[in-house]
Amino acid sequence: MTKWVYSFGDGLNEGRADMRNLLGGKGANLAEMASIGLPVPPGFTITTEVCSAFYENGRKYPDALEAQVTEALHRVEQSMGLRFGDAEAPLLVSVRSGARVSMPGMMDTVLNLGLNDETVEGLARSSGDARFAWDSYRRFIQMYGSVVMGVPHHHFEDVLEQFKRAHGAEDDTAITADQWRTIVTDYRHLISTHAGTDFPTDPHDQLWGAIGAVFGSWMNPRANTYRKLHEIPASWGTAVNVQSMVFGNMGDDCATGVCFTRDPSTGENVFYGEYLINAQGEDVVAGIRTPQPMASVRAEAGQQPMETVLPEAYSELMRVRSVLETHYKDMQDIEFTVQRNVLYILQTRNGKRTAAAALKIAIDMAREGLITQEDAIRRVPASSLDQLLHPTLDPKAERVQLTRGLPASPGAAAGAVVFSAEECEARAAKGEDVILVRIETSPEDVHGMHAARGVLTTRGGMTSHAAVVARGMGRVCVAGAGGIHVDYAAGTLSVGAHTVAQGEWITLDGGTGAVYLGRVPTIPPTLSDDFNTLMGWADAVRRLGVRANAETPEDARTARRFGAEGIGLARTEHMFFGPDRIGFVRQMIIADAEDVRQKAIAALLPFQREDFASLFRIMAGLPVTVRLLDPPLHEFLPHAEAEIAEVAQGLGKTAEEVRARCAALAETNPMLGHRGCRLGLTSPEIYAMQVRALIQAAVMVEKETGKPIRPEIMIPLVATQAELAVTRRAAEDEIAKVLKEEGTNLNYDIGTMIELPRAAIQADRIAEYADFFSFGTNDLTQTTFGLSRDDAGSFLPYYVDHGLLPRDPFVSIDRDGVGALVRLGVERGRQTSPDLKLGICGEHGGDPDSIAFFDEVGLDYVSCSPFRVPVARLAAAQAALATRQRVASSAA
Ligand code: PEP
Ligand code: MG
Repeated sequence: MTKWVYSFGDGLNEGRADMRNLLGGKGANLAEMASIGLPVPPGFTITTEVCSAFYENGRKYPDALEAQVTEALHRVEQSMGLRFGDAEAPLLVSVRSGARVSMPGMMDTVLNLGLNDETVEGLARSSGDARFAWDSYRRFIQMYGSVVMGVPHHHFEDVLEQFKRAHGAEDDTAITADQWRTIVTDYRHLISTHAGTDFPTDPHDQLWGAIGAVFGSWMNPRANTYRKLHEIPASWGTAVNVQSMVFGNMGDDCATGVCFTRDPSTGENVFYGEYLINAQGEDVVAGIRTPQPMASVRAEAGQQPMETVLPEAYSELMRVRSVLETHYKDMQDIEFTVQRNVLYILQTRNGKRTAAAALKIAIDMAREGLITQEDAIRRVPASSLDQLLHPTLDPKAERVQLTRGLPASPGAAAGAVVFSAEECEARAAKGEDVILVRIETSPEDVHGMHAARGVLTTRGGMTSHAAVVARGMGRVCVAGAGGIHVDYAAGTLSVGAHTVAQGEWITLDGGTGAVYLGRVPTIPPTLSDDFNTLMGWADAVRRLGVRANAETPEDARTARRFGAEGIGLARTEHMFFGPDRIGFVRQMIIADAEDVRQKAIAALLPFQREDFASLFRIMAGLPVTVRLLDPPLHEFLPHAEAEIAEVAQGLGKTAEEVRARCAALAETNPMLGHRGCRLGLTSPEIYAMQVRALIQAAVMVEKETGKPIRPEIMIPLVATQAELAVTRRAAEDEIAKVLKEEGTNLNYDIGTMIELPRAAIQADRIAEYADFFSFGTNDLTQTTFGLSRDDAGSFLPYYVDHGLLPRDPFVSIDRDGVGALVRLGVERGRQTSPDLKLGICGEHGGDPDSIAFFDEVGLDYVSCSPFRVPVARLAAAQAALATRQRVASSAA
């Protein structure tokens, strides 16, 4: 005979976890919990096959079903010592649907089934709480009336509202037992009028009604639509779970609680949670009574820990805790009820936790032998490490949100608002915490950004100047907060009616993009030994190298401290803005007399040489990729009158002449204009100076340290083979000259960035002149989408909110478009040179999902801002494990 019903709980467990298809997800999970020895309230599952048979036979149940249900129900009665429909000690049950996959649109849950005018009195007596009994009864009628009998839910609400108004009751808690009794009568009347039949008072009729409603809901229009959308076959059917209700509010030997098998905020291996004596689950959440701690060690004076109040149930809970962790191999979040000193587990699931707890739990569990080191690597979300490396907002602190922008660089910072880099530096020098607020930033603001605790811009996307530079420095940044109006002249920022003046405090959350009024307290980061342990495990597994984007000595040191294996991108333009250099840079651009120009360039050379030498020293033989000047010239032009006058004086020109020259150099779309190798080709002396400085620095540090240095020279924004061929040739000529002067030899590589679609498409030809490629996915995203990096902030959030793009493509690589070009570049580049070294240095190099993609396409390394190096190391390890798993399963 076909078995249609499977029992669980109290020692009779007929199902197993792997019987999901037959028992549905919920049923299989209950069976699993019961079969590993957890005390789940007993019950039974009616299989999905019953559902299929029901529809195949014109909505009729299989013959044997009724007898099997009766038998299973009888077993539940015995195990609970109660009887279904009994006026003295009634058994109440819950009825729930449960398909193989959870499915909205289906009937969900009916609780307290089995109550009627007689059994409610029994419940009132056994709980000693008439109010609770009648409230349970009316809830049951309401649920049953709407989900089983089809009376729209709002009718019940109307009845209740009217009653409350008529009796001056503000909320439900003010309603007495007798008043609930009246409402029950009103509800039943409502059902008769609307459904045309009476509310069933026989518990067996109630049960079969609920079972029928679950099966009926399998074919309702919402469920059908959902199935079509998700390609779930109708033939799967749903199961029905019937389970004994248990109550934690039947006296002082009852309780209810929520707990975690380990501390979810620190990860410490202690039992953590709260419970309430003589209470229902809702009471814990409602916060009317103060929940008590579980363990005595965690109790403060005057508290009543469960360990001492309900010792038997507590020791059972301790047993359950180890059963759960041994079985699920993860920290569990459990809901439990104690009814008359007997513990029941209602639910268990993997517990949510902070980043710090995730790390500690993963390491501890691996050491305890519960999971492997590889599991531990997979367990910690790579992006969550950001939380560990930066200060975060104190979750307990009150806050008033002013507005929101893009979460451009993580961490939290509070400080006084200032509107210029100069003011920022001046105040910071006096020890003040400051937040630099700009419409957008440019290289001239870098010194102010450095002095600031955080940076807020109203324009610009996730790869705008502010975002990239702040991330590199580890400064908090909220970018593109378009809701803010900045008035530099007035020294204010405003959002609607709120105005914040210079000197007043705001707080930024770079992890969410939120901007708060005033000072919200932050919590400093702590790096535990566990962090280093996990990094070590990750390093042993990953294939991808991890380098950093860094150009200042400070950034380079941070990069090494976080475990970078070299520098993948030193943006030399960031070296041009020091107060001791910018004057020469401006002269170099604006001078028309060749000798004046050459003199300015020559004056820059020693600065550059020292910049490069200090990078080589700090990186101690690790690879260093130096990119020749990239940004549009106009970024270096003088703006303020004083700057113009200074340049004019230096060049022996009039301010008018300097202004005219600046106007001539201005561009409409600088990002697509005279920058990158275009600049190097039209002003070859600049690149020649940089190459000279670089080679001299390498020779110098090699002599100093006796260790070989192999600089990597990178040429930006190449679109054609000819651009690279000519630029490379010029660099090689200069290198040959320097080495001859120095009377020595040096190994070096010359490569290019692949950051324009044409370069990716022509990668095979470009590779003929390149020792390495580094994908510049910032510019590649901008140019593939035809979407400006600096202006994207104004409409990209709309795109993401409205599902036009799954994510901001400047944050996470667009695999189908930009990613396809990267893949093509890899394939074509390696066609020409199988050993071509391949990296990526766009902002995507620090994004875990993008890193998975770069691992997949076979890059050799990723390069990201120093503070993201740990994230990248872990993400690279996770990517390697995923690749291994894919290979293994495709071989199987
Ligand atoms: C890029 O375009 O991805 C890149 C790394 O260069 P930059 O951001 O300096 O343009
Ligand atoms: Mg670029």
